[in-house]
Amino acid sequence: MSDPRDLAGRNALVCGASRGIGRATAHALAARGAAVTALARREDALEELTRELMSAGSPAAGYVVADLEDEAGLLARMRHHLADEGEIHILVNNAGGPAPGPLLDATREELETGFRRHVLASHSLVGLLLPGMREAGYGRIVNVVSTSVREPIPNLGVSNTIRAAMAGWAKTLSNELPPGVTINNILPGFTATDRLRTLGDSIADRTGKSYEDVEAGWRAMIPEGRLADPAETAELIAFLASPAASYIRGQSIAVDGGRLRSI
Ligand code: NAD
Repeated sequence: MSDPRDLAGRNALVCGASRGIGRATAHALAARGAAVTALARREDALEELTRELMSAGSPAAGYVVADLEDEAGLLARMRHHLADEGEIHILVNNAGGPAPGPLLDATREELETGFRRHVLASHSLVGLLLPGMREAGYGRIVNVVSTSVREPIPNLGVSNTIRAAMAGWAKTLSNELPPGVTINNILPGFTATDRLRTLGDSIADRTGKSYEDVEAGWRAMIPEGRLADPAETAELIAFLASPAASYIRGQSIAVDGGRLRSI
């Protein structure tokens, strides 16, 4: 009997794949046999990733250069890709998080940009890819969000707001999508990526501490006593993308080393 975690014969689209959690996810899906299309803005990084995936034994790998904030360009490039490569069965909605800062200081433009990059881009992609998932009788939509869905994080005003919108969007869709097409959210905790380093540097600047002190403060909040490796987050995404997760739907699951205090 085939392994229900196997992804052979499935086509996956991973957004924000040029680095961090997205890049690790592209590797995890490819390792289970999916044909992965990586999407981001930088072609050189995507070319390098595609080479890595192929040399790691991926059956097929490709990329789409697109800015998730530019809906018309995103949809045009994805339509072209679908015509050449066939339908997508697994969609990972992921993009760089909004800049830090108090919500009271956030401009209307910052809120609109965050909404466009996360909620509107995800909504457009679901609209484009759902007919193919429906026809295949198989669809997996996994959104990379944040633990701030459960406990808003100080000084991440725009991010907290946009993540809550993503969670509401996803839970609503989980009631509307057809059987066989699931949607779930991953809530990463402190994960060792460029994004976290930028946030740590910003806290260090604001408080006069060193980055090392900021990171030590984070570790002290985490029962596992360390930051996550992006590959650990990617493992859960790959599981949720697989047939083994067919009855998990509309959930938000933290990969945070136990940091969230809520039940
Ligand atoms: P990252 O900044 O390292 O990587 C983000 C990826 O998205 C990159 O490939 C980047 O090029 C791409 N991207 C950004 N804007 C884009 C756009 N407009 N169009 C296309 N691609 C775009 O981030 P990460 O640490 O891997 O985090 C992934 C997500 O998880 C982010 O939303 C982040 O806020 C969230 N998150 C991360 C952590 C953490 O500790 N790293 C914790 C909680 C939530």
